[in-house]
Parts: sequence; C-alpha cells; structure tokens
Amino acid sequence: MNIQLPFIPHAPSSSISARPPWDAIIIGAGAAGLFCAGVAGQRGLRVLVLDHSKTIGEKIRISGGGHCNFTNRHTTAQHFLSLNPHFAKGPLARYNAADFIALVKRYQIPFHEKHRGQLFCDGPAQTIIHMLLQECAQGSVTLRHPVTVQNVSHSNTLWQVHTDAGTEATHALILATGGLPVPAMGASDFALKIAQQFDIPVVAPRPALVPLSVTTQSLESFTELSGLSVPVTIEAGLKDQRYGHGHFEEDLLITHKGLSGPAILQASSYWQEGETLRLAWLKPEQWHALMEDEAYRLKTVEGLLALALPQRLAAALCEQAQLQERRWAEVGKKERARLTDLIARWSVKPAGTLGWKKAEVMLGGVDTHALDGRTMMARAQPGLHFIGECVDVTGHLGGYNFQWAWSSAYACAQMLTAGGAR
Ligand SMILES: Cc1cc2nc3c(=O)[nH]c(=O)nc-3n(C[C@H](O)[C@H](O)[C@H](O)COP(=O)(O)OP(=O)(O)OC[C@H]3O[C@@H](n4cnc5c(N)ncnc54)[C@H](O)[C@@H]3O)c2cc1C
Repeated sequence: MNIQLPFIPHAPSSSISARPPWDAIIIGAGAAGLFCAGVAGQRGLRVLVLDHSKTIGEKIRISGGGHCNFTNRHTTAQHFLSLNPHFAKGPLARYNAADFIALVKRYQIPFHEKHRGQLFCDGPAQTIIHMLLQECAQGSVTLRHPVTVQNVSHSNTLWQVHTDAGTEATHALILATGGLPVPAMGASDFALKIAQQFDIPVVAPRPALVPLSVTTQSLESFTELSGLSVPVTIEAGLKDQRYGHGHFEEDLLITHKGLSGPAILQASSYWQEGETLRLAWLKPEQWHALMEDEAYRLKTVEGLLALALPQRLAAALCEQAQLQERRWAEVGKKERARLTDLIARWSVKPAGTLGWKKAEVMLGGVDTHALDGRTMMARAQPGLHFIGECVDVTGHLGGYNFQWAWSSAYACAQMLTAGGAR
C-alpha cells in the first residue's frame, strides 16, 4: 500500500518564483511534517511539502520493530526531557494520545497495547504512512521529493526556499526535518542550521534512547552474559543536571558491546559522559524475602540467587562477591552486606553511547525558550516554525516521540492562516 500524492514535475530553476506564495511550506515529510500538512491542508491552506529522500516516512516504517508504536495512552509532559520541561504541556493538551487514537480508529487500522500504554499497529507501520498520505491528499497537499533544499532566505514577510528545482515563496515556513539518528536514512541537522542562521538558540544535540558501550574491564565477570535479558530498576542523571534524573523499571540486555534493552535506552537519555549508572537486579522486598526465608539456609549463594535471577547472572554476581561454593547459612554479616550492595546498587561506568547510528532519538535541538508553544513559531522570526524531533523535546521510550510529532505538528497547523495573516 503506497499512496503517493500527485507528482509535481520540477520547475526550471529561477531565482524568485513567479507563482503565488504558498500559505505554508513544510520541509521534511516525516511524522510531524506529513501530519502538519494534512491538518493545515484540510483547513483550506495551500501547502507544499519538500523532502530530500526518495522514500519518505522511513523512520515511521522501521519504528516499533516495523509495527510503529504510534502513541502511548498515558502520555504527559513528564515523559519528555527538555530544558524547558513545561513547554510540551500546551501542544500535548491541544492534541493528545486519544485524538491520534481516534484518527487511527477512523482509518480502521488494527492495533494493540503492548506494555504500559504503548500502542502498536497489528500490521506493518506502513499503514500509518498510508494514513498520513491520505490525510494530505484530503487537504490537497502538494508533496515533492526528492528535492534538495539549498538554502532559505527571508524578505518582505515572505520566506524564500531555494531548491534544486527552483525557488518557492511562502508565508509560513515549517521545519520538520527531524533529528540526527540513523544518518543512512536521510537524517540531517538542517533545522538546527536554519535556526542558527536566524539567531534562534539551539541546545547541543546528543544521541538518546541509545545502547551504551562498556569496557570489558568494567563489566568484569559479565562479559560471558551476552544475550541475557533481565528486568531491573535503573537510575541515571542527577537532579541538578541539564535534564534531571530518570528512574525506570524495564528489561536490561547484556550485549557483546555493552548494555542495551529498554532499561538502558531510557537511562541513556539522562546519562552524562563519565557518570556511573546505578541499577538493582532485584527489588529490596524480593531480596529481603529470599534472605530471610529459613527454607533457603542450606542453599548455596548461587542457588539462592538463582531462585529469582537467571542462573548465569546468579553465578556472575556470586563471583563478583567472591561467594562461590558458599552456603547461605555460612555467609557472615559483612559478606551479606557486600552481596546486598551488588544486588541493590550494582554500578557500571559506561564508556560512551553507540552514537547516531544506533540512537532512536535526538536529545536537544531548537531551544523551546525561543518558540511559542501555541504555534511552534520562533518568537523573534514571525512565520518560521519548528516541529517534531528537531525541537528540544525528547520523549521516553514507548510511543512518546511520535505523540510529540503529532502534537507539535497539530499546534502549528491549527494556527497557520491563509496568506500569513496574523
Ligand atoms: C529505529 C527507530 C525506531 C523508532 N521507533 C519509535 C517508536 O516505535 N515510537 C516512537 O514514538 N518513536 C520511535 N522512534 C522515533 C521517531 O521515529 C521520531 O521521533 C519521529 O520520526 C520524529 O518525527 P519527525 O517528523 O520530527 O522526523 P522524521 O520522521 O525523522 O522525518 C524527518 C524528515 O525530514 C527529511 N529531511 C531531513 N533532512 C532534510 C533536508 N535537509 N531537506 C529535506 N528533507 C529533509 C527526512 O528525509 C525525513 O523524511 C524511532 C526511531 C528510530 C530511529
């Protein structure tokens, strides 16, 4: 299923377009750009969408393991990292998870809830792309790709977009070019460069929701555990740091390169270079119940731990605590305290992240202090808007990043006007 909007042949290059200006030009035909275009088009605006990729919506297509975790039922502003933590509240209130679910239902796209409010398509993620394109078609949106946008200029209240297919003028210019993850899929820092060109501050970008690399030295006896997935409680970041402190109960995956799985991806967004991560393999009540049960006195320490943890992990923890071959009843107070420390406050110092190739999102982006949350417009540059991942609003794992794309796009689309009237 691949509906494309009417193909508009490239016009010959010219310095200034003779055609009437568009009400809105959106650069980036991903989640935010396509959704914004559909909403604005259906409000009667003349909208042009430009993308440099041959195939659009690629991140939607690969998202959620191919099934697109398109929103989370429990979305609140607390599920986002931003230097301006209240910024997301307005857009999320105006268009929330229930609104997007209603749209998905209208298109009769079957979906299911997987884990803590995460909603996935039953079928391929392509159905969401198809829905967004249908919405654009209903709004008579013009979509052109692949088109290279060379630069952008501004004069007499109009924005000029210079491309390899000519120049187009518009009353409103919307940057929806996403973040830096997965460069092989056409990710670019275009929105950040445009922000800088027009003196709009940018929060330094960093890979987030990304696996962490760990040296074999700091993993000690854990290098043998590659492939193991265990539920943990994990903490990262500090309250007085840039994005504060995160605390998650999720699965951790030990890999041959280091640590991954939802627990690590979540923690990576809060983790700062050089910081030690803290995690608990068992909840305090679980560990105390095991320690205090008389029935287990004669078990080896490894055997005791293996009642609640995978055998290989139990053996590795025993080795770290130097309690191999020891019966629980023979383990003294100091050794028990050492083991409790390993189980409840295991720490590891990651060497770094696996970078943009493996990150799911970008932390940082256009500084929201410079944007109006009702319109996503730059306060100092009337008519210039930023939506989606290029903005310094980054969601936790679990459908929040798409919800931000929909919510920020909707806020922008609702406030655009024909002819740029303000
Ligand atoms: C592997 C993976 C899985 C993910 N899974 C999920 C998930 O299940 N749930 C979730 O909520 N989030 C998920 N995400 C994050 C989600 O995909 C993004 O947050 C979301 O796509 C951002 O939407 P956007 O419209 O801002 O950017 P994008 O969807 O990335 O769209 C940006 C568009 O801009 C175009 N573009 C870029 N530069 C230029 C340029 N210079 N000129 C013209 N066009 C340009 C690109 O080609 C692209 O089409 C995942 C991300 C990855 C990498």
